[in-house]
Amino acid sequence: MPLLTEKTLAGQRALVTGGSSGIGAAIARAMAEAGARVAINYLSDAEAAQKMVDEIHACGGEALAVQADVSQEQEVELMFGILMERWGSLDILVANAGIQLDAPFSEMTLAQWNTVLAVNLTGQFLCAREAVKEFTRRGLIPELSSAAGKIICMSSVHDVIPWAGHVNYAASKGGVLMFMKSLAQEVAHQKIRVNAISPGAIRTPINRAAWETQEAEAELNKLIPYERIGEPMDIGHAAVWLASDASDYVVGTTLYVDGGMTLYPGFQEGG
Ligand code: NAD
Repeated sequence: MPLLTEKTLAGQRALVTGGSSGIGAAIARAMAEAGARVAINYLSDAEAAQKMVDEIHACGGEALAVQADVSQEQEVELMFGILMERWGSLDILVANAGIQLDAPFSEMTLAQWNTVLAVNLTGQFLCAREAVKEFTRRGLIPELSSAAGKIICMSSVHDVIPWAGHVNYAASKGGVLMFMKSLAQEVAHQKIRVNAISPGAIRTPINRAAWETQEAEAELNKLIPYERIGEPMDIGHAAVWLASDASDYVVGTTLYVDGGMTLYPGFQEGG
């Protein structure tokens, strides 16, 4: 049962990177439900992306799948070229694609470091740059939205919570925090809104080990005051709100959607 039934994004065109699985797939579904046309970017799983497109079409929505590695400049430019050709413009970018390549710090290879930074941070730069160029060219269309464009950067609670064994990932998300704020400051006068969502622990393939068994999930819940793991649609609903005019005065903010994970649950008793 959809929680947000109003077509708050009617007529708008959204690109969700890494949109064929997990959080990205939930955002794509939620935005399609809210009336947006959705481009589902994928890296290699064409079948999963096409399945999403078919599902959205079956519900009366409009979607397309577009392959690109977000860490590659030319591929990102080509992807935006395809979108411009198909839809003429873009209104919403959700820079969601992200990876983890975990290792104890002294064993972390340069390749593990570089790859995580390339996808999680450079990928956001490359996609946001193309989106800002298009929003600037096109300007405001008041009948579509109060903003000339919206960018949502997918960050993580690990933009503020340090994470041993995941130094590359935490560094990339810490980078997303200041990337988002600096860009938001730079383009707000053009009526472009840039914000971030920082999810806590969400049940997706990226962190399967943390929820796959009952014991692992119980252990994880100790870190979550609300005592449940997040579901991808928790983030889907937040993204729709952040892309809609209901949040028009929200600029340069990180929305923590984490069941209270950033509330220092270790201090619940004592301290
Ligand atoms: P996921 O693995 O299902 O999604 C990541 C997606 O990014 C996949 O579809 C993958 O194919 C895609 N991707 C990876 N490299 C890419 C590349 N080079 N180009 C294009 N696409 C690429 O996991 P998820 O949990 O849905 O992750 C989505 C985002 O949410 C990530 O940025 C992740 O860091 C963030 N996040 C997730 C959690 C969580 O608990 N699941 C928590 C905080 C933040």
